[in-house]
Amino acid sequence: MTKTERTYLDWNATAPLLPAAREAVVSALDMVGNPSSVHGEGRALRMLVEAVRRDVAALVNTAPAHVIFTSGATEAANLVLTPNYRMGRTPLAVGHLYASEIEHPAIREGGRFSRDDVTMIPVTRAGIVDLDALDIRLKAHDKARGLPMVAVMLANNETGIVQPVRAVADIVHRHGGLLIVDAVQAVGRMPVDIEALDADFLIISSHKLGGPKGVGALVSRGEVLMPVPLIRGGGQEKGHRSGTENPAALAGFAAAARAALADLAERNARISGLRDALEDGMRTATNDVIIHGAEGERVANTSFFSLPGLKSETGQIAFDLEGIALSAGSACSSGKVGQSHVLTAMGFDATLGGLRVSLGPDSTEADVERFLAAFSRVVSRRRAA
Ligand code: PLP
Repeated sequence: MTKTERTYLDWNATAPLLPAAREAVVSALDMVGNPSSVHGEGRALRMLVEAVRRDVAALVNTAPAHVIFTSGATEAANLVLTPNYRMGRTPLAVGHLYASEIEHPAIREGGRFSRDDVTMIPVTRAGIVDLDALDIRLKAHDKARGLPMVAVMLANNETGIVQPVRAVADIVHRHGGLLIVDAVQAVGRMPVDIEALDADFLIISSHKLGGPKGVGALVSRGEVLMPVPLIRGGGQEKGHRSGTENPAALAGFAAAARAALADLAERNARISGLRDALEDGMRTATNDVIIHGAEGERVANTSFFSLPGLKSETGQIAFDLEGIALSAGSACSSGKVGQSHVLTAMGFDATLGGLRVSLGPDSTEADVERFLAAFSRVVSRRRAA
């Protein structure tokens, strides 16, 4: 896919690999040895893995010992969402998972909880988790079955809407619960600090930052309270996640994590300028475009909109034919475009389709212009139809 033929506006699905990440991957691929081996080759790779841990820890302001590498955020979610915890060596039960309606499927599926032990927490029309509803649910939680666990994402992948995680943490901790925060779409797009958020665990993913796919991390607040492992074996990652580490993918993750922290404010100012121009242009082209979440706090790069009468699938194909890669919300493995569960949760009619434009550090004014030209053609064709 060359830049001249195609306009890539789907950074929330995955960010293009950064040149620095590619270089790091390629040079690590040539390193011989297993990071668990005690010989010099193994030790060199161990040093690389531990340096990556420091870079990833810095991304969310924690200690390197709090980072457990996984095959991505989905695995991290399945590791952390479990009824079975340990406090040191003592088993600790989690009785129920409360997850916001707008969570990514990686969380919505409930990990290792049985379906009956998962309750969805509604969101307001503005796409914000309903704090009163959460409080009521936690008040009614039966502690005899174990602690309550709450999962609320920091930035939504479809709308970009930022959730009031600190306020959620206050409620969860007042009820003696654990807070899991999916920070996948927030890192690299806004400052993320596990301490300031008062989260117990964060999940993050490399490929949303310009690192390789298939690598991510579970970040814990401390080292004492930990989930029972999902993958057992040779005891890598202090027994929390067995299996030989993938140093090449990790090296790419570290490069992306460093880039994500560099110049964040300047990058965001530029990207939000592009997003504003894009949204202003859409409103000028038609007054019936609905831009979801525009009145609240959003990450700078995301615009989720609906054109009444235009189905997500039809819109996505129309833009694709115009040379523009955007998405109808979350990227689904089957390639199917379903109804957005986020729009439904926000109380919109189930027939209203949503289309997501997500920008990144390489996005340009020319990308926005090409999008707007295509948008005008899609709008005219919809009118004609
Ligand atoms: N959580 C959110 C908010 C996401 O956007 C994604 C990716 O689409 C995931 C979790 C899953 O991440 P991964 O692809 O690393 O499994």
